[in-house]
Amino acid sequence: MKQPINRKKFLQLSLLAPLSIAAKPLQFLGESPGELLKNNENVVYYKAGDAEYETLRKGFNKRIDKKPAVIALCKNTDGVAAAVKYAARKNLPVAVKSGGHCMEGFSGNNGGMVINLSAMNNIEWLNSEAIKLNPGCKLAQIYDALLPKKRFIPGGSCAGVGIGGLVLGGGYGLTARKFGLTCDSLLAVTMVDGTGNVISSSGNDELLWACKGGNNGNFGIVTELTFTTQHAPATMQSHRFRAYKVDAVRATAILQKWFELTPLLPVDCFSAFVLNGRTLYILLTNVGKQTASVQSFISGLKEVTDKTTNTPPQPLAKALKAYYGRTYPMYFKNASAGLYKNFSEIESFIDKALSIVSSTQGMIYQVNTLGGNIMNPEFEKGSAFPHRAFPYFSELQTYWEKPSQEKRLLERFQQVQYIFNSNGINAQYRNYPDINFNNWPELYYGSNYKRLQQVKAMYDPANLFRYEQSVKL
Ligand SMILES: Cc1cc2nc3c(=O)[nH]c(=O)nc-3n(C[C@H](O)[C@H](O)[C@H](O)COP(=O)(O)OP(=O)(O)OC[C@H]3O[C@@H](n4cnc5c(N)ncnc54)[C@H](O)[C@@H]3O)c2cc1C
Repeated sequence: MKQPINRKKFLQLSLLAPLSIAAKPLQFLGESPGELLKNNENVVYYKAGDAEYETLRKGFNKRIDKKPAVIALCKNTDGVAAAVKYAARKNLPVAVKSGGHCMEGFSGNNGGMVINLSAMNNIEWLNSEAIKLNPGCKLAQIYDALLPKKRFIPGGSCAGVGIGGLVLGGGYGLTARKFGLTCDSLLAVTMVDGTGNVISSSGNDELLWACKGGNNGNFGIVTELTFTTQHAPATMQSHRFRAYKVDAVRATAILQKWFELTPLLPVDCFSAFVLNGRTLYILLTNVGKQTASVQSFISGLKEVTDKTTNTPPQPLAKALKAYYGRTYPMYFKNASAGLYKNFSEIESFIDKALSIVSSTQGMIYQVNTLGGNIMNPEFEKGSAFPHRAFPYFSELQTYWEKPSQEKRLLERFQQVQYIFNSNGINAQYRNYPDINFNNWPELYYGSNYKRLQQVKAMYDPANLFRYEQSVKL
């Protein structure tokens, strides 16, 4: 089912009035737009002052406000190659944007070029199992296209996240324990390198390896992603456990119990421990059978929480929608708070962290189950994602409505982070980055960082693709 973007659709998507193409020369860069656009409508350039510029420069996080010199809205791989060559000629650092959900705004920059792939959102079936996606596809769009055909790729839960950023950093979700990370279903990529050359990963295992968890804007712009799809589970059911007005002591005790019980879960299940201020919420989802060990998990949690609700098995397409989240921009800060092997890694200090979280309205500490098939040695060998040995991934979040609330919440956020960092937590998930992680190469990529530097030297020797935490030469 090919859905090509024709010119009309592209212009609609780009919010562009056709007349404005000719009316806005890029004189600020000393280059005539005619040369760039007349013969090449695969890419349209915008600068400050264009109405479209304001829309296109924004991401999902309203906390971040960046102003690139130029935004290149691309229609296809040729457009991306032309934009990269243009940026190279002008020595403009390049950031890449697919779904715009980067938590630290690394898909934007100040004074450089942003290559915007949001209009590249085609889904093409190659055969009954394999699909080719453009990076601007959003998760809800992908699930909507795949599930009616009873096929699935294990992505994340939020509807608006772009497949580009998600898969290039790894990608976990409700079915990752069953099927692996999103990047484990990736078969091939097409990429534009730092000189504007179009490269294929076929016959190039090193490039594919690096794009599975190690290429968030690091050494090339991925324009096509080929995935194998899985047979979609028919249904998903869920349980929710709640405890109210908890303090740090009770939250810590329940967290310890949760860690003790999670090994009971089969790979069909996912669980998350979520402390939101003083309200504790634990989620269990299951796309398989309600086995005796799942029942034991449920009974164990019922003993220590205040209320349990359950949603009986629903068709997967319907059940996933419950986790789609907000799709419009918000003020927030969200960052990885460590990957753990077990509770003992955090036992000595977690009560201090939970004490700050439980006394701060608007702050959330969450631990998610990984493990299962994410630990498959074949997946580990084939990908740059370095953290497979950790069955738990935690994150810290805080949300606010008015800019005046930001300062206090970010101070509290950093206090919690300091507790984790000073207690030796030394693995973080790159898709939940934090600008304040000093030793980010080791935290995000572990021992794979050196190998990623070699890939960077091969495809982006001039370091065109760069931002605060991009892989360095
Ligand atoms: C609300 C929300 C929910 C989330 N839920 C999940 C979840 O369930 N599971 C999970 O694993 N993660 C989740 N994340 C994190 C998410 O995986 C990352 O933010 C991801 O990088 C977003 O991808 P994007 O394309 O939307 O973002 P973008 O901001 O467009 O890009 C993110 C990063 O990838 C780079 N990049 C993007 N496209 C390309 C490309 N084509 N070629 C090269 N580099 C590229 C960018 O330069 C940037 O560094 C969530 C994030 C948010 C904000």
